Formats: sequence, C-alpha cells, structure tokens
Amino acid sequence: MTHGNGTRDDGRLTDVSAVPSGRHAVVVGGGLAGVTAALALADAGVRVTLLEGRPRLGGLAFSFRRGELTVDNGQHVYLRCCTAYHWFLDRIEGTALAPVQERLDVPVVDLARPEGRRLGRLRRDALPVPLHLGRSLAAYPHLSLAERARVGRAALALKGLDLADPALDDQDFGSWLTAHGQSARAVEALWDLVGVATLNAAAGDASLGLAAMVFKTGLLSDPGAADIGWARVPLGELHDRLARKALDSAGVRTEVRTRVTSVLKNGNGQWSVQVPGETLTADAVVLAVPQREAHELLPPGALDAPGRLLEIDTAPILNIHVLYDRKVLATPFLTALGTPVQWVFDRTEASGLKDGQYLALSQSTAQDEIDTPVATLRERYLPELERLLPRTRGAEVKDFFVTRERTATFAPAPGVGRLRPGARTKAPGLYLAGAWTATGWPATMESAVRSGVGAAGAALAALGRSRDRLPDFEEAA
Ligand SMILES: Cc1cc2nc3c(=O)[nH]c(=O)nc-3n(C[C@H](O)[C@H](O)[C@H](O)COP(=O)(O)OP(=O)(O)OC[C@H]3O[C@@H](n4cnc5c(N)ncnc54)[C@H](O)[C@@H]3O)c2cc1C
Repeated sequence: MTHGNGTRDDGRLTDVSAVPSGRHAVVVGGGLAGVTAALALADAGVRVTLLEGRPRLGGLAFSFRRGELTVDNGQHVYLRCCTAYHWFLDRIEGTALAPVQERLDVPVVDLARPEGRRLGRLRRDALPVPLHLGRSLAAYPHLSLAERARVGRAALALKGLDLADPALDDQDFGSWLTAHGQSARAVEALWDLVGVATLNAAAGDASLGLAAMVFKTGLLSDPGAADIGWARVPLGELHDRLARKALDSAGVRTEVRTRVTSVLKNGNGQWSVQVPGETLTADAVVLAVPQREAHELLPPGALDAPGRLLEIDTAPILNIHVLYDRKVLATPFLTALGTPVQWVFDRTEASGLKDGQYLALSQSTAQDEIDTPVATLRERYLPELERLLPRTRGAEVKDFFVTRERTATFAPAPGVGRLRPGARTKAPGLYLAGAWTATGWPATMESAVRSGVGAAGAALAALGRSRDRLPDFEEAA
C-alpha cells in the first residue's frame, strides 16, 4: 500500500520513474540533519526524496515502546540560544510540545558534604550579562568564596576569547581552566557540571574552542540564552511523527527502511543513489549520515583527506531508567555532585506512566559504564538514588532498565575542529550534513539542524535555486 507521497507501508521504494521531472535532490539519512535538509530543499521548490535506513525518522533522538511506556533512547535538552533547533520545532509545528523554562533554574545537590545532603541552585536574574548570573554565583554553596570570585574572573576571560581563532581548538579546556585559577572543585562543581552534559567530555578531554563556544553562547551572550527546554512528549512524537507530517505536506517523498549502499556519479553527470533493488537519479545528494557511514558512501576524490572522518572519535551516553511506585522527585530535573549520578529527569508525563514516577538518569562521558551489565548498574545506582532522593527510601522499584548509545556524539577532543568537514565536497552536487560536520557547535540537535540548513543552502546555490526561504541563524557569540 502506498501513502500520499509514494511511500509503501513496508518502506520499500515504489515506482521510481513515477517521480515527476525537475531538479531532484536525494537526502540520505533521516536524523535531524537529514530531515532539516529535506524540508529546506523542498521549501525552496526542489523535488526531494529522503532515504532512511531505520524504520523511523529522528536518528539518535528517538523513542520506542516498552509495554505501556513510551521511552526516549536518551534524555535530550536544548537551550534558548539554540535558534536552529527552535526553527526546526516551529517548522514541524512542535514548539508548544518542547517549551523552554521561563528562567534558568538548575537544582544542584551535593552529597559529598560531611554535614549531609546540600542543595544549591544555578539560576539567573533579569539583569544584563554577566550580572544575570552574579547573584546565583555569589550564593552558590558548593564553592568557597574565593572559588566563586575566581569563577567570575575566568568567565570574563572566557568571554574575551575569539571563537574564530583556530588555535583555541588545539588546547584543552581543563588546562585553560587551571591556568585561570580554577580549582579541581570548581571544575567539578561548576564547569564540568555544565560542560559534561553539553559537550559529552570532561574539561580535560574537551577542545577549548568548543567549550568556549558553549559557555560564551549559553552563559555569556544573552541573559536568557541558557534557559533549558525539553520535550514534554516522547522525542518520536517530534522527530518522527511531526517531522514526517511536515515532510509529507512539503511534498517530500520519505522512504524508511531504505539503506543507501552507494552514491556514484553516472554517465549523464547526475548522481546514482543505490538502495537494495533500486537506483535513484539525482541532481544533488546530501549525505546526512554519521561520519563513518559518510566515509563509506563518499565516492573517490570527494574529499581531500577522507581518512580524517575516521579520526573523529565518538563518545557514549548511558541512560538509566527507574520506575518507582510513588513520586520521589519534586522538580522536573536536578543534577548532583559527590555521586556517580549526573542529571535526573522526571519522565512520568512524557512516557504516559499512569501511577508512580519514572526517572531517567542521563549519564554522559559513560566510557566506563557503557558495557556494564544492568544488574551491576542496578546495584550501583539504586543506593545512590536513595542518598540523593530521600523519598526513594521505602519506595518500590517497579522497573529498572538502561539504554546505551555507544556513538551518541562525536568526541569534542582538542584538534577535532580540523577534522570536521564543511557542507561542500569536491564533488559538485554532493553535500555533507550531520551534527559532526563543521558547524562550530558540539554534537547537538542544534548542530544537526544547522548542518542540514547549511547543506541545503550549498545545494540550492549549485542548483541555481533561490535561498530566500532558508532560515538565517546567527553565528556563535
Ligand atoms: C543518549 C543521547 C543523548 C543526547 N542528548 C542530547 C541533548 O540533550 N541535547 C542535544 O542537543 N543533543 C543531544 N544528543 C545528540 C543529538 O541527538 C545528535 O547530535 C543529533 O540527533 C544528531 O543528528 P544527525 O542528523 O546529525 O545524525 P543521526 O541522528 O545519527 O542521523 C543519521 C541518520 O542516518 C541514517 N543512516 C545511516 N546510514 C544510512 C544509510 N546508508 N542509508 C540511509 N540512512 C542511513 C541513520 O539511521 C540515522 O537515522 C544526544 C544523543 C544521544 C544519543
């Protein structure tokens, strides 16, 4: 059976020759980068086919069913400064489903204090930058007075860094913090608290360029820049269902369960995109797949040094899901110090759970635990949750499971900037997209959307189509 756009329920391609004539673009990969590129090309009047190997759109940010629950593969948040992801949400009519908190407010619980559990908050005021964080920092109980003053001075030094300076990418953030008077405690209780969650690397393993970009844009550009947004529905509702609806209405032909096996120039100067049993012909191709897959699919000569793509390392994220028979966490999320628990989110409403509370622990930089058996993680994390959330004591654990994403992000290591290619390749008509390409952002939804718009823009220029309808995002601060 076929849908309005020519897709069959089984996801197999239908009659390729039935596609009407005109400039045709094929987008390979239905993650956020690919969906964005497809929408942007279609909005500019190009005929688009989007090919995704899996049975759903959304790539690394997706949902699945577990009994009555709808589970996200990993908790995703974004910031108010993520203008491209905001555009994407608007474009798929999903903005109301993933609102941003009115004002940055992050509860930070420290369990390492001899006097017991201590709550601090990272909040902002309605004051201009950098005063918007001044009061919160001055009252932050997890650092000494001297440490707080030194954090303020380091933040000002960070603000002065020129993000366009490529030398920043060669240095590691941890050494820069040490050189700017930051104690190990300040790194743990402040810089890594934010940095690990946004970069998926501890300061010592992160490029100063990427870290500076995150902190300057998120905390030092606009007072509201770091206000946190997250989906109140399953990610699949946004990145699969609503994305699919927007693609359908834009006239994009979307094929899932359709893995591309090769992309080659044919005798007519067009591109031949091979999927099992079919060949599609295209004037432009956007490869919006992870870097390893891009390396496999790129035809010879498309990049000067294609091997560099394989040097872009990946980093894992682990999510630990715990269902309690009662409410144990009163805030939508919190973060913790002095425990292996990093960030805890209340997933109850989004998952459709009717009774009790569903918590998801988002564990970044999970290299040491990504292969740890569930039983071991259970033994390790349930007591930690009892220390962190006193109401869990005596509560019944109804379910405990984990989701493991071994290649969740590219590793934002020093030097990674040199390895990330732009949207254009040396092969005319062939473009790259993906959070891992050179957007200036770490591996985020924001980076994925930016890359999709960038690739669509490059393709439109080559196809001689207007770029008037492309969104225009500001560069990082
Ligand atoms: C657990 C976890 C937590 C995260 N948390 C956050 C967060 O809080 N905030 C944030 O902004 N970001 C977060 N991220 C990162 C974010 O999800 C990614 O950066 C973003 O989704 C990447 O999108 P993409 O389109 O570039 O790539 P992908 O999502 O990897 O999409 C690529 C697509 O290409 C498809 N594909 C591959 N090969 C082929 C082929 N040959 N033919 C057809 N299709 C193919 C794949 O199936 C996939 O769907 C998180 C990621 C994970 C895994």
